[in-house]
Amino acid sequence: MLIKTPDGALLFDTGTGGPPAGSLMTSLEAADVAPEDVTHIFISHSRFDHVGGLAKDGALVFPNATIHMSAPEWEFMQANEQQAAIVSAISDRVETFEPGAELIPGLLTAVETQGHTPGHSSYRVTSGEESLLYIGDTMHHFVISVEHPGWKIAFDTDEPAARAKRQALLAELAESGESIYAYHFPFPGVGHIETAGDSFVYIED
Ligand SMILES: [Zn+2]
Repeated sequence: MLIKTPDGALLFDTGTGGPPAGSLMTSLEAADVAPEDVTHIFISHSRFDHVGGLAKDGALVFPNATIHMSAPEWEFMQANEQQAAIVSAISDRVETFEPGAELIPGLLTAVETQGHTPGHSSYRVTSGEESLLYIGDTMHHFVISVEHPGWKIAFDTDEPAARAKRQALLAELAESGESIYAYHFPFPGVGHIETAGDSFVYIED
């Protein structure tokens, strides 16, 4: 997800950095945004499919961007030896925040959703009366995770916490009708949640 503001461009996670899986750079080019134009990157969590695009061959891919992630997630990432190359490339550019912190007044707030990883964060973007919640990897599949929120995915580091967050978030989203952006749902991954029987359903917008 990319948000253009009068002062810059905000990017939410970076994909793997591909190829073959990542097409972020071609998508940015299509949106007329050069890597140098990205001013802030907000990371939901530090798994490779979300942070792999931050660095290439030890160098920053987005040289002017501040990289934001929650303090517990940065701690988790630094302790992960498999991420050592990315950690050393980005460490000067990382700014941590406390889970749930307001990040850009009136525009962007972090929403604490740990469980998938210890510092996993969702992000709420607000514009006037409207808002959209980027749910990161609180849900992975648009049918399974939504209709069976009790089913875990193998990558959840804290299974009971991830399940509880997913169920609570779905109930909250069904009640509010708020728009969501879901990283792993079918492109473009924008929709909302409704109740269906004693469970939930994802409706594309
Ligand atoms: Zn993911």
